[in-house]
Amino acid sequence: MIGPAILAVDADPDRLGEIERELTERYARSYSVAVAGSADDAHRLLEQLAADGRDVAIALCALDVGGVDGADILDGVRSRHRHARRGLLVRWESLGQRDVGEIIFQAMAADRIDQFVFRPMVSPDEQFHSAVSSMLLDWADAQRTAPNTVRIVGESWTGRAHELREALQSCAVPHDFCLVDSPNGRATLEIAGADAELPLLQFPDGSILQNPTNAELALATGGPVCPEQLEFDVVVVGAGPAGLSAAVYGASEGLGTLVVDRGGIGGQATSSSLIRNYLGFPRGLSGRRLAQNAYHQAWVFGADFTFMHTVTGIRREGRFLVLTLDDGTELRTVGVLLAMGATYQRLGVPSIEAMVGAGVFYGSSTS
Ligand SMILES: Cc1cc2nc3c(=O)[nH]c(=O)nc-3n(C[C@H](O)[C@H](O)[C@H](O)COP(=O)(O)OP(=O)(O)OC[C@H]3O[C@@H](n4cnc5c(N)ncnc54)[C@H](O)[C@@H]3O)c2cc1C
Repeated sequence: MIGPAILAVDADPDRLGEIERELTERYARSYSVAVAGSADDAHRLLEQLAADGRDVAIALCALDVGGVDGADILDGVRSRHRHARRGLLVRWESLGQRDVGEIIFQAMAADRIDQFVFRPMVSPDEQFHSAVSSMLLDWADAQRTAPNTVRIVGESWTGRAHELREALQSCAVPHDFCLVDSPNGRATLEIAGADAELPLLQFPDGSILQNPTNAELALATGGPVCPEQLEFDVVVVGAGPAGLSAAVYGASEGLGTLVVDRGGIGGQATSSSLIRNYLGFPRGLSGRRLAQNAYHQAWVFGADFTFMHTVTGIRREGRFLVLTLDDGTELRTVGVLLAMGATYQRLGVPSIEAMVGAGVFYGSSTS
């Protein structure tokens, strides 16, 4: 067996065989498919994989495995494989049944599962594979191996490296960090040159920026930092979920729409590892994915964006409103939509504020 494991558990040999075949035919090139027909077998398999240093990417489990709750079996997954995604397998016919919905809700609320997955009904079952693929992407995201992950290389996790991490988070860009004297750090430094200025950002195409400004970082990750024109029908201040929604609807109605944000996209939502109550996403999605999707949607509808700029003033001039940005740029618009969200209070103690990013961190979720 090669590659991280995809594990399926079901006491019914026929159903287990169907799932094993479906998984093997689609994923065996990159993942090893492992199956267990009982709770005991599943525990043994998980222990063996952990002892062999093998990763589990996904564990799928029937609601009931020979009298044992599927969620009980999945409890054993995260303790050994912390990034593994866990799904309860349900029959399509269960859709709408209150008792099954309740089991899923309780297991999700207690963080015992990540998703529910409809069992495959035909072969190939693209609905099943769509759920499995999205779990694999979530697993890769958590492992920081998702496509487009940007690497930060620095002498320490604090200081400017921390600021760059915050800026990448505010641009909803997946990223990881490594010390300059680690094997990956040395490899990046070798490409950049021994006298390169740290921290370094290495992009998936191999290009490297040396201690970039936040504006350079935004540009390099696909975020414009200057408006291409100075007159719009609507300017939206804030690119959090509210501002991005406004951008989609403004632009899709044909209004010349600009969104300005002092950071990147997603606002507070980018700190959320899993949002379960957003309309249209029954299995939840990360704040970063939500922000990326909304940004792509607004972009395709023709909305313009200007990141890393704060709107500092607003005044009326005839039928126009004039917005001032922090670099002095003035934007004329017929309508302004303020979607500036919330600003969290900080301690406000100067000596502590000076240490933010260098030993003092504010956090709202796991990082
Ligand atoms: C860790 C965490 C988890 C959460 N989980 C959930 C959840 O599961 N479900 C849920 O419903 N909600 C959740 N929330 C709350 C949710 O993220 C917020 O309600 C939502 O982001 C608010 O959206 P918004 O667009 O109104 O404002 P914000 O997200 O606050 O965005 C405002 C944007 O405006 C920008 N801005 C402000 N002033 C200016 C200015 N002068 N010039 C330029 N730009 C400016 C900011 O940079 C920011 O990007 C969570 C929040 C956090 C922090």
